[in-house]
Parts: sequence; structure tokens; C-alpha cells
Amino acid sequence: MTRTITVRHGRPDAALTESTTHFDRGVAPGIHRLQHAFVNCYIVEGDDGVTIVDTALPETWPYLLEALELIGRSVDDIRAVVLTHAHFDHLGFAHRLQERGVPVFAHESEAYIAEHPYRYDHESPRFVYPVLHPGSIPVLTRMARAGALRVPGITGLRYFGPGETLDVPGAPMAVFTPGHTYGHCGLFFIDADALLTGDALVTLDPYTGATGPQIVSGAATADSPLALLSLRALEETGATTVLPGHGQPWRHGVEKAVELARAAGASQARVRGHGRRMTLPLVVRASANANAARTFSSENSAAISGTIAPVRSNSNSSARSLSRAAR
Ligand SMILES: [Zn+2]
Repeated sequence: MTRTITVRHGRPDAALTESTTHFDRGVAPGIHRLQHAFVNCYIVEGDDGVTIVDTALPETWPYLLEALELIGRSVDDIRAVVLTHAHFDHLGFAHRLQERGVPVFAHESEAYIAEHPYRYDHESPRFVYPVLHPGSIPVLTRMARAGALRVPGITGLRYFGPGETLDVPGAPMAVFTPGHTYGHCGLFFIDADALLTGDALVTLDPYTGATGPQIVSGAATADSPLALLSLRALEETGATTVLPGHGQPWRHGVEKAVELARAAGASQARVRGHGRRMTLPLVVRASANANAARTFSSENSAAISGTIAPVRSNSNSSARSLSRAAR
């Protein structure tokens, strides 16, 4: 196979720092990150119980139970699920909690995707990404093995609107950020000075394997120009800690993260098709951003702490594996 473009951005192996399932306790006050199969799920503790933000993949469920135990909680403490958006890799075990009577909140425009997790708008064909971005292969393979291809849809969402403060543990404010999906919302936990950005701004793009602050590529984003405009809403929170749907936490302020995401943009890349030239919107990173991504990656890996039954820990991180090692 001959590749017709050279991929210049990111480091194909950079994503592998996230390949081990791990639990980052206290990534912000009262907020914990469970990372499984390159997808983040957040456990937020409040006085009155626990909120789960995004429900990762079906096979994340046993890790969630384990993580809850680590913080002295159980599934019975979960008062709410809040979805930044309803893509399959954020909806994975939502049905399990809904069956237990836990309400699932999202913006109204996510209802269709929640019911049909594999029917969503995206700008460019997904199949070309593993070819053009080999760094995505371990990510996508891992996600598939964690059940990404068999996520059950759900109905009966409870809706919230832009700017609304939700009456759930942690009391997040919904930051409307359409573009990745049309009802996408970030969640700002004001007391924790932390912004959960979902897929409106990530530090790992599963479809390219590239790291550093960026919007998700057109393989899974409905409207990249709109997604870039929505970065403004994230920026206006002024949050110190940024916790994305994929990738490591960003601790240098949302303004800097947004600046880098804008610089990365959603530019065009040309690919030769069968006898004709196709133009595909692929994320091509500026070299400045690649440098920033490198700095970010090394700084952040030391800033987080993990717990429990270590199976493996990577060389420059204190984050430990969950006892169920990533397969
Ligand atoms: Zn998404």
C-alpha cells in the first residue's frame, strides 16, 4: 500500500501513554478520572452523592465499580449521569444506570443519537483515518475491544439547557458548545475550577492519535467550523483545569488550551483517490502545536496521581493501572 500524504503532526506512539486503564483520583477537587480504552469517564463527588459524567464504553462498567469502591462509594451513591453528548463512546454503560433508576441528563439535541448511537453526523469518512493516521489504530482497536461496536441506545433523557446549573452532585453549569454534535455541552464545576469539555476540546484525538488540545477530527465531528466557534464558550469560563473526553487533563488554563486548539484548527488535507482527487477535512497540526503537545504531555503526566492494585505504570507517570489490566 502506498500512502499519498505524509502525516507530519503528533507522535503516533503518544497515544499509547493512555493505553493502560487507570484511575486518576482527585484530578480536581471532588473529581476523579477513570480512563479506559482511551475514553474518559468522570466521577464527581458532592455532599449528596455522586454524578457520573459520560459513561465511556460497555466494558468500562466493572472498572467503574472498582473506582467507586476506591473512593468509598458504591453504585447506590450515583444520583445522576450527565452526558456531554451521546456518541457511543460516551454512552457505553448509561443503560445500566438508567435501569437502576438513575436519571440520565443531556441537551435535548442529543436525544436522537442517544437512541441511535451509530447514527450521527460527521464530516468525513471514518475508514480513511486508520490509513492516513496509523497512530489511531491502537486507539480504535482498543475501543472496539471495549465494546464500542455494541453500545445500546437509550431513551428517556432528562434535558438541560445552555447555561443551566444542574441540580445534581457537583452542581455543574452546562456550557453549550455545539459543533462536535449539535447538542454538545461542556460542564463547568465552578467550585472545583474545572471544566469537563467532553469532545468539544480533547487532548487526544482517537481518529488520528494526535495529542495536545484540539477539536476532534471530521471523522466524528458534525461541523468543525461551528466546533471552533464554540471554543469561545469554553474560554469564557476561565477554568484552570480542563478535563477532556479523550486524553490527559490540561492544567494550564482553558484560555491556553483554546488558543492551541484554534491553532490546530481543522484544516484540509488532500488525498489521491482512485483516479480522482478527493479533498478531506483532516486535522493537520502546525509544528508549534506539536511542540506544545510534547511539553504538555510530559508536564501533565507527573501532575496526576493514581491508586489501586498497580499492574503496570508508565515510566514517567504516577498513574497506576486498575487491577483489571487493559487487554
Ligand atoms: Zn464524540
